[in-house]
Amino acid sequence: MLGVVAWWKWLMLSWAFFLLMPWLINHFFARFYSHTLIDPARRIVVLQEARKGRWKSLIGLHLINSGIIGLCIAADGWLQAMGIGNLHGGPLGLRGWLLFVPQVLLVLIVFDTQFYWVHRAAHAWPMLYRRLHRDHHVDRFPDTWSAMKQHPLDLFLTTAMPMAWVVLLPIHEITWLAALLLANYINLVGHSRFEVTRYLPGLVTPNRLALRQDPYRHGIASWVNTVSTC
Ligand SMILES: [Zn+2]
Repeated sequence: MLGVVAWWKWLMLSWAFFLLMPWLINHFFARFYSHTLIDPARRIVVLQEARKGRWKSLIGLHLINSGIIGLCIAADGWLQAMGIGNLHGGPLGLRGWLLFVPQVLLVLIVFDTQFYWVHRAAHAWPMLYRRLHRDHHVDRFPDTWSAMKQHPLDLFLTTAMPMAWVVLLPIHEITWLAALLLANYINLVGHSRFEVTRYLPGLVTPNRLALRQDPYRHGIASWVNTVSTC
């Protein structure tokens, strides 16, 4: 799949990342989890003012950022073609299915490690925060589109770069793709305006801190991040 760099492959993945998934999650949660909307009263008052000019800046950023994601997918193709990448293709097979969950978790851990340290540095170093990361936190009442509001260099360091070098892992390309989409889903849910983490769609982001804020959480749900504590 990634042996040859085909423009339509990265275009489809970028499209799924930046347009389809945020739109679907926004609508799905609004339809089925509207009762979990965070702070609805304050949201209505502040929303109109806060959203002025939002789409203009989002469209520009999406165009640049999807180009960056595209370049990293192209780098994946190049690494594979040069024999440096370790992704393998063909049918998933029994071995692939058995290893599917462990390999997805491996990708998420590797992916999240880089994300965590870059994100932490962006918050710890004031100059970096001002220049690279502040705009991401400007929305006071975020939704899934806010997840994509990211400085291109911030996006490159936290998201696009790991997408490229994760191909060094010896995993199946379907597993690789599934893990990337899952990572994006977790990211989008974390920025959504709905507190869904005690329900099925949110059971993918671990953090015991959540339990303190939400006494209704129990079992596996007590180990997941909440949207309000992200
Ligand atoms: Zn941050």
